[in-house]
Parts: sequence; C-alpha cells; structure tokens
Amino acid sequence: MVNGDVVAIMARSGRWIRPQGSRVDAAPPVTAARPPRATVSLPLLGLFAAYLALVAAAGWAVVNLLPDRIAITALGHAVSLGELHRRVLQHGSILVLIVPGVLFAEMVFTGWRGTSLRHLLAVRSPTARSDLAIFALWQTPLMNGLIAVLSLGVTVISGAWLHDRLARLTGVSLSVAALPAAVQVLVFLTVFSFLDYWNHRLDHSRLFWPLHRFHHAAEEFTVLNSVRIHPAAFTSILSATLPAMLFGASPDVIADVNLFVITLRYVIHSRIDSDFGWVGRWIVQSPVHHRLHHVLDMSLPTGHFALMPVWDHLFGTWRPDAGEADQRLVIGVETAYRHGAWVGADIWRDYLDFWKGLRPATRGAAAEQGIV
Ligand SMILES: [Zn+2]
Ligand SMILES: [Zn+2]
Repeated sequence: MVNGDVVAIMARSGRWIRPQGSRVDAAPPVTAARPPRATVSLPLLGLFAAYLALVAAAGWAVVNLLPDRIAITALGHAVSLGELHRRVLQHGSILVLIVPGVLFAEMVFTGWRGTSLRHLLAVRSPTARSDLAIFALWQTPLMNGLIAVLSLGVTVISGAWLHDRLARLTGVSLSVAALPAAVQVLVFLTVFSFLDYWNHRLDHSRLFWPLHRFHHAAEEFTVLNSVRIHPAAFTSILSATLPAMLFGASPDVIADVNLFVITLRYVIHSRIDSDFGWVGRWIVQSPVHHRLHHVLDMSLPTGHFALMPVWDHLFGTWRPDAGEADQRLVIGVETAYRHGAWVGADIWRDYLDFWKGLRPATRGAAAEQGIV
C-alpha cells in the first residue's frame, strides 16, 4: 500500500497533507484546542433519568400492548407482519436510547461546547450537515433501496437465509443456536469482529477506498459519523452476512450483538477524549484511537482497523509508534468533498470513482504510484 521514502507531513491551509508514497514515523502534530471537560450537573442527570424512565415505559407498552403479529389486507391481498416487538424495539432503541445515551455521555465528559449535538445543531458545518443528512436518510426505507441498487443486491442477502440454504444443500450446519445465549454472544462477537477487521482492511485497499473514503471524508467527529457509510459498501458482506451464514446464531443473539456493535460505533466517533486505558488497548476501540485511524488515508500505513483491538495486535496494525492520540488530531482526506447539500453528489462521484478504479488503465497508474 505504501511506497517511497519517508516524507515529512506538511501543513497547508490548516490541514495535514499526506503526500503520496509518504509515511508517518512521528506522531501527527495537533492543532486544535483540547475540548473542554465538564462537571456533571445534577439537574441534567435528573432530566436524563426521567427520560430513561419514559423510554422504559414506552418499551413496556410495546411488549405488552402491541400485538406481535398484525395481519393487514391491502388490495385484496393479506399481508402478515410478524415479530413486531423485536422490530420496534430494535429500531426504537437506536433512536431513543443508544444515540441519546451516547450524546448524553459525551456531554458529561466534554461539556456542551465540545459535544456533537452542538456541532450538529448550532455550529452546523458542511461536514456536520452531511452527517445529519445521512443519519436522516437511514431513518427512511430510501436508504435500504439505495443500498440494494448501488450494491447490486450483494449487501442485502440475509446471512440466516444463506445458512439455511447451505445446511439443506450440504447437510452440514455449524449452528450455535442450541448453545447458551452467553456462549453464542461470545462466539458470534468474536467471529463478527474478526471478519469486520478484514472487511475494514479491504475498505482501505485501492479498489474499495473510493467507497470507504466517504466515511473518512468527515472533517470533524460527531457521533453521527458512525452512519456516514457509502450505500455501496460492498465489503460489508464479509461482516454483515458471513457470521450468520456460518454459525446461524439465534435471532435474539444476532440482534444483541448488532446493538452492541452499533453502540460501540457511535461511541468511537464521539468527541470523548479518552483512550479507555487497557480496555481501549485490548478489548474495545476508544474514540481517540479511532480518531487516529481517521487521520490517515490509504497513502499511509494505516492502523487501528479493529473494533476489538486484539485483532490489530495479532495482525500487526496496532500503531504504538503513532504517539499519543487525542481529540485535537485533524481528520479528513485529501480528496475534495463539498458536504452538506452536496452529499448526494459526493456519494455519486465516489461511486463512479469505484467503478473507474476497475479499469486496467487506472490499475496500472495506481501500481506505478505504488498503491496496491
Ligand atoms: Zn477506515
Ligand atoms: Zn470511523
């Protein structure tokens, strides 16, 4: 991925420029002021506790008052919607529990001035507006349609469906569904994080970088960076489909692991200035280590790919040489993005760049520049 001599990082227009074929041996310097830290305000804690009680009451109402299956007759056809409790709780918990919970934790650690909420709602820089637009898009069926079309259907194949097909075809099923739930969670999470690590390594390859670049184009961290994912992220088939296809865990276990991973992704894109100590070095990635990952692009020996850092240690992509990370590191990519109202144009340009990258002429030019 990297070729050439060590070239010093140059600062231009307040951003770090990463020359092609360069690598970083020293810690990237920092330019922004350290985010302020806040003390916990008791009225704020009380307000959030009241909010949590409201959410718990709504959850109780969903399970006890809403039927789990509803049959609807539309245009003469009977349509049956099942597993409503699971669907409502899963989608609802992200919107009303996970995102507000991470935003609240961030406010406790950084104070209002440092929080994503202020950057999303008050400052509203173009890059933050892109985050808001993508997050809003995720709340509509439009995003799923866009994913299905741009990924040519590849990323919407169900892992559980593939598992059943494979089991029927081969007579072999490695399902862990009969094991205790805690063991299933452990197996599923381990397999998922391993495949997610390689999924992310692929994202940084020359071929898939134009699609993953969209995520790295964020010029400041907000919790919502987490969902700034290009709708044609083909590589996600590795981590989103394969674990369920291979091990067929129970739907509850898959849902629990999903929620944990979604929460972690929101946390690592927060502005909390912490490396989580030994937990951040071995168990789950911390916000400042993920920020260190965002500082770099594919012309550098990028590190910190794994949600579970143990994989980075095992495969040599943990970067102790990168120095101490903190929230002042400047992030982004060299490719120009227009953000905000142009988010659709950015997505389309990156999609075309991906297909152009398949052309032999482009591959040859990239090889000459030493990009694999
Ligand atoms: Zn990345
Ligand atoms: Zn990220």
